[in-house]
Amino acid sequence: MNEKMAMPGDELATSEEYMPGQGTYESNGTIFAAVMGKPVFNESEKTVQVLEIKIVSALKPGDIILGEVSNVSNSLANVIVSGVEDSVKRVGFNEMGVIHVSKITEAYTDDARKEYRTGDLVRARVLQARPSLQLSSKEPELGVLKARCSRCRIQMVNKSGKLYCNECENNEHRKLASDFGKFTPGYTEA
Ligand SMILES: [Zn+2]
Repeated sequence: MNEKMAMPGDELATSEEYMPGQGTYESNGTIFAAVMGKPVFNESEKTVQVLEIKIVSALKPGDIILGEVSNVSNSLANVIVSGVEDSVKRVGFNEMGVIHVSKITEAYTDDARKEYRTGDLVRARVLQARPSLQLSSKEPELGVLKARCSRCRIQMVNKSGKLYCNECENNEHRKLASDFGKFTPGYTEA
């Protein structure tokens, strides 16, 4: 594919040359792409539009994904999915999923922030792919695979079920996957 894709915010033309069409907007005499897609210039009508390309999730319930925790609130951990484990399947780039607090561990937890922190690499199972990506880490092999110390950001090690930082001697808790620390990526990057 040689045709150039436009990303939201890309400059397409000036409003002297073309009229802004669907998928574009005009600001201060410049026409920008409003969506990701293929720019189409109509020379007879002097319009420019962007035909939107929507990334459809290739994930389905039951899939095991790998991703990074982007932020955590009391009730949710947001995960940016980077790939599907043991599969050649491709997923939408930077697809965002959530793990609800009730879907984090087999045991009861009342706060997602006690189990996950921003930057954790996690393995999770897809519960629902559409309309929103819902994930679970309730099984022993699911949860955190790599975690950094929240004080000094170095990789923490598993010391009898607790995470320990060799640098600052900090102890932290996570919902750990059973192979925490032994994990090597065996998946296709999105
Ligand atoms: Zn530390």
